[in-house]
Amino acid sequence: MLDNKKIAEVIKRLKVAMRHLPDPSVTLVGKKFKSPFLVLISCLLSLRTKDTTTLPVCEKLFAGIKTIDGFLNTPVKELEKLIYPVGFYKTKARRIHEICYDLKHRFDGKVPDDLDQLLTLKGVGRKTANLVLTEGFGKLGVCVDTHVHRISNRLGYVKTKNPHETEFALRKKLPTRYWIEYNALLVTWGQNVCKPISPLCSMCPVNRICERHNVDVSR
Ligand code: SF4
Repeated sequence: MLDNKKIAEVIKRLKVAMRHLPDPSVTLVGKKFKSPFLVLISCLLSLRTKDTTTLPVCEKLFAGIKTIDGFLNTPVKELEKLIYPVGFYKTKARRIHEICYDLKHRFDGKVPDDLDQLLTLKGVGRKTANLVLTEGFGKLGVCVDTHVHRISNRLGYVKTKNPHETEFALRKKLPTRYWIEYNALLVTWGQNVCKPISPLCSMCPVNRICERHNVDVSR
């Protein structure tokens, strides 16, 4: 198993290698708009949708609507059109309205900066809640999506069966100074190099450290 000295080296090398690669869409929204609310909306839009689709939709949408009331004043049917072609756009338009209503009436118009409270919002799971904390508030959280789960296991840093287990394994093992950046690093790495099928190990700067668990085919 990879120890914390080795994961520190992995993170250092990935940060250098990633300088020329774009951040994930939610990270970009966080940096550009500095709004936990818009990070939350972009997280919802990004679920089961590629970043190349999510980002242009967010840019266009947030140019016109930036507030809870702005979304509530936009009819669901209109919102559907605005967020098309993100995946499940009809369900997401309805869900965004429900969440905005909840934020306005239960949370005084503010996105809570607490994991347990975020999880009480309909349609908000651990991945979204953790990402709102890290990218929206700059607070500690461990957001594990399919890329983070897959790469953490390939590296040999954790040995887990699903993203839920990975989150709790990382919470125990990963030093807190890496919690905020770990998600964006591994998501970008997973989209570009350590792909689900046939990762590009021959050009990977951590291929001498990585234990390459469950990697049968690589390039
Ligand atoms: S060496 Fe291969 S499996 Fe390991 S992190 Fe790099 S691309 Fe992924």
